[in-house]
Amino acid sequence: MAEGNQGYKGKALAILKKFNVRVWSEAVISSTRGEFNGIVLPRSENDDDKHIVLKLITGYNIGIATDTIENIKECGYKEAHYKIPEKEFPVSENKPNIKLFGTGGTIASRLDYRTGAVIPAFSPGELYGAVPELADICNLTTDKLFAVFSENMGPKQYTVLAKAIGEQIEKGIDGIVIGHGTDTMHHTAAALSFMVQNPPIPIVMVGSQRSSDRPSSDAALNLIHATKAAAESDIAEVLVCMFGPTSDEYGLLHMGTRVRKMHSSYRSTFRTIGDIPVAMIDTEKITPIKHNYNKRRNDRDVKITPVFEEKVALVYYYPNMQPDIIDSLVANGYKGIVIAGTGLGHVNKPVYPAIERATKAGVAIYMTVQTLWGYVHMFVYDTGRDLMSIGIIPTENMLPEVAYVKLGWALGQTDDMEKVKEIMLTPISDEITKREPYNGYLVFQGGIPEVEEFLRDIHK
Ligand code: ASP
Repeated sequence: MAEGNQGYKGKALAILKKFNVRVWSEAVISSTRGEFNGIVLPRSENDDDKHIVLKLITGYNIGIATDTIENIKECGYKEAHYKIPEKEFPVSENKPNIKLFGTGGTIASRLDYRTGAVIPAFSPGELYGAVPELADICNLTTDKLFAVFSENMGPKQYTVLAKAIGEQIEKGIDGIVIGHGTDTMHHTAAALSFMVQNPPIPIVMVGSQRSSDRPSSDAALNLIHATKAAAESDIAEVLVCMFGPTSDEYGLLHMGTRVRKMHSSYRSTFRTIGDIPVAMIDTEKITPIKHNYNKRRNDRDVKITPVFEEKVALVYYYPNMQPDIIDSLVANGYKGIVIAGTGLGHVNKPVYPAIERATKAGVAIYMTVQTLWGYVHMFVYDTGRDLMSIGIIPTENMLPEVAYVKLGWALGQTDDMEKVKEIMLTPISDEITKREPYNGYLVFQGGIPEVEEFLRDIHK
């Protein structure tokens, strides 16, 4: 093997030696489970000695158990240098100044040569080295606030971000981009929509579904679109900017409170729910779709409220849910519960007494719908009326995750249940809207005439 063992030991090392194969070689591994073609990746010191790790052509890494391997054939050698050259970002006086905050996620990732895993890595110079187009759009400075995958984002990170945004606005920045993992980007977008109210500039969250070492990566284009939106658009809202269609034709800008990740692997995963996206964006232009958004201003009158009560839960109702779910949350000191109920906002009868106990104990309970599209309607069936009489409050068409975030934020400000209710039901950033527009219900079901017609319309 070329240089050292690159993490391979024991059986795994022995098998590489037996077939005279090096780390970083392109290899065909024949095993009892089939034939695999890819690049032999290095391993970390802590990994087992029972697998050879291959990066497949698709970009996915797989471990092949040594005792299933019958033959390995080396057919090439492709040592990867994943370190992106750092370059100093050029500054030009007539370009807008944009701050990019890094929080982690795939967009800030590169391949860790030791493990073959995708790990968070972020530096301004690296970004410019990787996406030089950014310099045509703005003067970019960056701050790495966190380096986590987004399942690790939460109230502490939301408040740090909100404060950092406030500081930048005060300093006169023209736009903010936030690099973030896609999995919980809609939670953070909602949190920032409430914590940073009336921003005078665009605050654009962006991520990527595929890391930049993959040919199909959406990282660079999403970043270009988001930076362009922050620098040039007049949309002074918290937005999410990601691929629109599955191709790289254009990106969409979504309201931070009306957006949701809807597909685990498509690049076009983010969809506006119950409304239409704010705008389309490509490298040439920004085309508004919706027109009632807050416009960019020169003042700096933003309202930052960086608070969050952590003892809030989001409960997804399922048939036969037991009342002890609710009782145990109350016993554990939870102050607020958002339920994602069935249909128009229902849970089964056995849960009612637990809900009554909870509301009597001063726990705030709010109802949303797991259908995602549509409104909670608790006057239609007597069961809905019963639920309201025991203290559940319907939240119109607020998405479950958004209601969860808003309740945490509201309870972070006050314990007074009337005030909490007022905060919850007063729309701040389109989290509650008067009606769903006729074309705000979009599910890609190929061939259905009204969907095709809607798509033709937005392609015009
Ligand atoms: N697991 C990653 C995250 O949310 C996925 C991504 O960034 O797309 O951090």
